Amino acid sequence: MPEGSPPKIEYACERCGGVAVTRDAWAEWHVPLQVWTLSEVFDFAFCHQCHRETRLVERGTN
Ligand SMILES: [Zn+2]
Repeated sequence: MPEGSPPKIEYACERCGGVAVTRDAWAEWHVPLQVWTLSEVFDFAFCHQCHRETRLVERGTN
C-alpha cells in the first residue's frame, strides 16, 4: 500500500455480511455548490439484502 493512503474500510450488515446497507440521514441543500450535502447521519441502519433494520460492522476491504 502506498505511503500516506489510509486503509479503506467498509460497512456490512451484521446478519448477512452484505454491503447493500444504508443509514438514515438528513440532507441539506448547499446553495453555492447546488447539491444536497449530508448534515447529519443517524444510527438507524437498513440492509437492502435482508430488507430489515440491522446493525453495521466496520471491516477492512482486503
Ligand atoms: Zn443483511
